[in-house]
Parts: sequence; C-alpha cells; structure tokens
Amino acid sequence: MDPRSTAFLFEEQKHQLTETFYREKIRMKPIILTGDRPTGPLHLGHYVGTLSNRVRLQEDYQQFLIIADTQALTDHYDQPEKVRENITQVALDYLAIGLDPHKSTFFIQSRVPELFELTVHFLNLVTVSRLMRNPTVKEEVRQKSMEDSLPAGFLTYPISQAADILAFKTDLVPVGEDQNPMIEQTNEIARRFNFIYKSSCLKEVKPLIGNVGRLIGIDGQTKMSKSAGNAIFLGDSYEQIKSKVQKMYTDPSHLRVADPGTVEGNVVFSFLDAFDPEKNQVEELKDHYRRGGLGDGVLKQRLTALLEEFIAPMRKRRQEYEKDPGEVLRICFQGSERARECVQSTLREVREAMALI
Ligand code: ATP
Ligand code: MG
Repeated sequence: MDPRSTAFLFEEQKHQLTETFYREKIRMKPIILTGDRPTGPLHLGHYVGTLSNRVRLQEDYQQFLIIADTQALTDHYDQPEKVRENITQVALDYLAIGLDPHKSTFFIQSRVPELFELTVHFLNLVTVSRLMRNPTVKEEVRQKSMEDSLPAGFLTYPISQAADILAFKTDLVPVGEDQNPMIEQTNEIARRFNFIYKSSCLKEVKPLIGNVGRLIGIDGQTKMSKSAGNAIFLGDSYEQIKSKVQKMYTDPSHLRVADPGTVEGNVVFSFLDAFDPEKNQVEELKDHYRRGGLGDGVLKQRLTALLEEFIAPMRKRRQEYEKDPGEVLRICFQGSERARECVQSTLREVREAMALI
C-alpha cells in the first residue's frame, strides 16, 4: 500500500484506535503477578497448583509472569548456567500449556533492575527474626541442608518476592500452597510501608490456590519440586511418564493383590484424585483397594494412560516452539521491557513517599 494514500492513513488510524482501545481495556483489567524459578522445566505440581489458573484467567486479567532468575540464584548462585538455560525451558512450558504472550507478559526478573531497589527499601521493614519464622523458608533450608551455610540472599528472598508482587499493583497471585507465607509477608510489607511513609501506593494482594495446592512428589516424601528429583515434567515422554509412575510410592505393606491396601499417603491415589475426571470410579477403586483384590499394576496402568493423555498435547506444542528458542527468548525480552515500565512507575511513587532525592 502507498504510504501517502488515504487508504494507508485510514488503516494506520484504525490500527492506532485499536491500539488505544486495547491499552484502555487492559488498563481496566485487574492484575495478576505470579511466576516460577528457572531451576528446571515445569511439572504437574505447577500445573495443578498455579498454571491452570493462569491459563483460565489470562483473558480477564492483565497477567505478568515473572521468570525469577535472581531468586533462583539465591540457592543456585554457583550454577548460573543452569539458571540461564532454564529461563527458556520455563518460557517454553508457558507456551506449551497455552499461555499467550499477547495476553500474558512473560518477563525475566534480572532484566527489571528497579525490582532490586524496591527490595532494598523493603529490607528495612522486616526483622531477621520474622524472616527466620517463615515456615516455607524453614522447610526449604532443612530440605536443602543449608542450616550452616544459609545465604543472606536466600533468607531474604521473601522480601524480594514481595517487591516483585507489589511493584505491579497486583490484585491476585495464583500460587501453590507453599506460597501462602510469602503472600502474608508481602501484605505485611505493604501495610508497614504505607503506615510508615503515610502513603497508599502499595496495595495488599490475595492468593489464589489451585485445585490441588500441594501435589506430592512421586517419592511420597515431600511436595513435587524441580529440585527434589521427584517430578513428572510437562515435557516428559511417554516412556518417562511410564517409568516414573512405576516408581511411585504406594502402600509398602500391600504385598499381594489380595491384601487390603491403604489409600492415604498412597501417591497413585493422590494423582488419581488430582487428574482423573471420573471421580466416582476413583472412589470405587479406593474401596476395592481397601478391601483387597486390586493390584498396584492396574492402578498404575490407568494413571499412566491418563497422564499421557493430559501431557501429549502440551509435549507436541512444546516441540514446535523448541524449534525456535531465539523467538522464545525474544518474547521474554519484549515482555521485560513492558514489565519494566510498570515497575518504574511504582518505584517513582515509592521514592516520592520516602522523600528520596
Ligand atoms: P524449586 O524446587 O526450584 O523451588 P519448585 O518446583 O518448588 O522449584 P517454584 O518455581 O518454586 O517450583 O514454584 C512455582 C510455583 O509453583 C509456585 O506458585 C508454587 O507454589 C507452585 N508449586 C510448585 N510445586 C508445587 C506442587 N508440588 N504443588 C502445587 N503447587 C506447586
Ligand atoms: Mg519452590
């Protein structure tokens, strides 16, 4: 089209109108901020805990998804390459599950340095003893045997996470159950900041916990986690799913098929509860298992088929996006620019409230 023609100008004007309309529309939407540490690809626990809510809400909310590389470094400071590589893995998972970068802003924490200035200001508002009482941090320290080598950065990551959340004037944070203490800490900081600096610029947030707030790992020991080696990943192959289901912890005293078995603490049943849409059938299977006469093998076959059906479409989409990792990273860089504008605007208000020069 000739750039001087009326038709061109008209098209251009229409484009601008659409753009303005779009911006107005998204400005009016409530805001979601949530995200993941790039310490590995995403797993089924992420899906039921938070990802399914993100996909469901991306139309009605302006959604910011943080790939928290700086936070990941607090316990992976000696493995920066691992963290860097996993940024693309996490973004690939976002795309594979149907998060749309036109609706949800994917961004990389370390590319928004204003977040770290907010963190520094918030560090003054939280006592060390309050940080030491955080139950999720305590559990992670124990799990990772960091008692005698706890980095200050790890102890204070809930404060940096509060900065991530508050920087966007967030309304809702879709997360798994382990994040509840972080949301509490975030709201404490918001209240304390507003009180001390006589401001209203920080806004308290609400958590939104998924259908299953804490999916157990295949070992039956702790929650499924990237770092614990007990995860089924959203990109796993059929063979990987099958072999992980085979390894799932069941009832160690259920030796023969005829023996009565225990459902509580049995990982296969936890997964059937989470992923099997036939709730009545699952209840019947539980009764049968308790009575005796139902073998683990039958249940594991059922679960393998179910998980394969669930993961196959994601795996396929992931393989498509994997062909162009450069484009995936470009999406994250572009998103980081957009995210940065929002954070800069909140930081200006924070600095003003604190009367900083
Ligand atoms: P890491 O082991 O590195 O901490 P992770 O598997 O715990 O990784 P995170 O990036 O810390 O994953 O968590 C991202 C989001 O996923 C958080 O909202 C968290 O609550 C949720 N989540 C993680 N694991 C589970 C799980 N097993 N069940 C439900 N939600 C989960
Ligand atoms: Mg975690």
